[in-house]
Amino acid sequence: MSTQEGIVKYRCDFTPGPALPFSELSELNAWRKLMVITGLIGQDPNRYGGYGYGNISRRLDAQVRSDGLHPFVITGTQTGGKADLTAEDYVVVTACYAQENRLVAEGPIKPSSEALTHGAVYALDSQILWVVHAHSPEIWCNAEALGVPMTANVPYGSPEMAAEVKRLYIESDLPQKRIFGMAGHEDGIVTYGRTAEEAGFTMLTYLVRALQCAERRN
Ligand SMILES: [Zn+2]
Repeated sequence: MSTQEGIVKYRCDFTPGPALPFSELSELNAWRKLMVITGLIGQDPNRYGGYGYGNISRRLDAQVRSDGLHPFVITGTQTGGKADLTAEDYVVVTACYAQENRLVAEGPIKPSSEALTHGAVYALDSQILWVVHAHSPEIWCNAEALGVPMTANVPYGSPEMAAEVKRLYIESDLPQKRIFGMAGHEDGIVTYGRTAEEAGFTMLTYLVRALQCAERRN
């Protein structure tokens, strides 16, 4: 792990490879589309320096593997702004090493460094099969009122973030709520579940609750 001017760099051992068959991506892609429609994943010139934001992933195997790895398929880097994705926009992260800040990936596109946070969530429990990372100013700003567990102010995609996710899983009601906010990552929210519905609807449910908070103030 190398550091430069206080910023921890992550390492991605990336091997270009073929795309997965689209049939294996269709459920993931449909949920992503809904996240784009609701603005939870996207790209906006006025937000985050104009970079694409948010990503969605699912574990490749439902079974626990003997090697302890938990490969997952995730949207590629800087795909947030695209309304429609193809199989070429998804990549398999074959291994994640949070402590070394390193991940190994194979596919037609590189994963974003946020894949490390997805990996940290999968490492919590083998029953977690889906992860959504969205950017929601509504949920993030109302996290306390909504009872959303928040990480400490640490950079995303860092060993510190992975440690914070683990801490929340042990110390907070994260296992019941399946949602947390990232204090060091503006508007960053993560939900997860055993199914796409559990992960996706948790995000949408909290967005609706957050919108109610805003209405009460008006
Ligand atoms: Zn993010």
